[in-house]
This record gives sequence, structure tokens and C-alpha cells, in this order.
Amino acid sequence: MKKFIWWVLSFCFFCCNNEKPIENIEHKENTISLNNIPDSAFSNSLHFQEVDKNILLGKFDYKEDTNFSIVNPKYSSKTIYLRKEVLIKFDEMYNAAHKDGIKLTVISGTRSFYHQKSIWERKWDKNIKNMDSLSTVKEILKYSSMPSTSRHHWGTDIDLNDLENSYFESGEGKKVFEWLIEHAHKYGFHMTYDNQDESKRTGYKMEKWHWSYMPIAEQYLKQYKETIKCEDISSFKGSQFACHEEINVIKNFVMGINNDYKKIINATK
Ligand SMILES: [Zn+2]
Repeated sequence: MKKFIWWVLSFCFFCCNNEKPIENIEHKENTISLNNIPDSAFSNSLHFQEVDKNILLGKFDYKEDTNFSIVNPKYSSKTIYLRKEVLIKFDEMYNAAHKDGIKLTVISGTRSFYHQKSIWERKWDKNIKNMDSLSTVKEILKYSSMPSTSRHHWGTDIDLNDLENSYFESGEGKKVFEWLIEHAHKYGFHMTYDNQDESKRTGYKMEKWHWSYMPIAEQYLKQYKETIKCEDISSFKGSQFACHEEINVIKNFVMGINNDYKKIINATK
């Protein structure tokens, strides 16, 4: 009987544990490709028609979603989740960069509504002491998203190496940035928050660290535009400003990306 229980527990451990790094599941000699993962893994992703509204708003448990996996420890010392398709393409990009002597490190990936709420409200509590509510919202929105409006909810977006633009402007960081600008599009990744003076986009300040896997993120953004209203953005401090005419968070921030990514979509088809 004891043997039987041990066998059942062992079976469950090997079959039910979704939290193993994708490396352990899919890697073959340190490389992975779409062919290594069965079509069933993408039944809700590559061929999806419509995403659940709660996924767009970050209100789902990505740790329990089989479309997500933990990033390979060689990319990050933290436990970070991304969509499996994004991990596959990131792995290809990581290896190509590595061959060119460039080290890419993932410092942030998927974040839930609640995680974003904790970031937002920490900044709210700090800034509200010195300014009025509307000014506080504007100040936080320079670099941080309102909960339910972050691309990090989707599992398609990553922050790389450092959260300061200055890191990417000299030395090792400059080499990393120049490599990404030249090569990232081949793997589907796009810098969504570029220099506003050049692209004339609205929304967040430039973020040289934030890269988005556009083949999927583009579809999420399209559905976001069609289905989410600013009234859906609620339940955190200052959320009443989501619809404020000076904020208009969906139009100005969610849609405020560098739109020059068609070449990426075509290159990855
Ligand atoms: Zn980011």
C-alpha cells in the first residue's frame, strides 16, 4: 500500500508540476523551437480569436495558466513568468546575443493586477503627500501604469537589464541597447516606449528596457481597444482619474506606443 501511495505521489509530482522552468521541459541541447512544443500548448494562444477580458485587465492567475512558464534561470535570478511562445523567441534572441558577446537579463515579466496595484499605490502614497490627486496620477504615469492598463499583464512584455535609461547610454549598457535596436525585431521584440520627440506618441516617457513580443501583444492591444472601457479600470487609489479628460488612460497610455512595428510582424510570420 505504501508503495502504491508513493507511486501515485511521484506520478502527480512529475505530471502536475507546471512551475518547472521551460528549460527543463522543452530544451534540447540548450535550444528550443516551436517544433519542440505540441500544438496543444498553443490552443489558447497562437490561434486565439478572443482573449478573456480579465486577462487583458491582469485579473487572472498566470502561475496556474498552462500557457505560461517560468523563465530559464540563466536569463534571470528571479522567478519570472512569461507566455511560452515569448520564452521560445526570447531564448533564440538570448542565444544570438550571447554569441555576439551581449548579456541579456530579464528583470521583470508578467505582473498581475494586484502586483501592479502594489507598485502604483506605493508611488501614490509617496507622491500624494506633496501634490494634489491629479498631479499625483500624472507623476506616477511618467513611468508606471495604472493597474489593468499594463502590457506586463499579458505575459508578452519584458524589462531587460536595468530600469534606468542612463544604463543604456554608455559602456556595456550602450552595447546591449545597440544590439537590441539592430536585432530584436528579428525575434518579434519591439521597444514600445521610444523617444516621444521622435515618434510623437503620447503616454509614458522613454523606457529603453521595455521590450514587447508584438506578434501576440498586437492582438491583445487590438482586443483591448475593442472591449475595454475606462470604467473597467478601477479598484485602486486614484482610479477615478482613468476617464479624466487630462488622463484618458486608454487612448493616451495603453494606445500610446511606437506604432512602427509592421516589419516585425512580417519578419516573424
Ligand atoms: Zn516594463
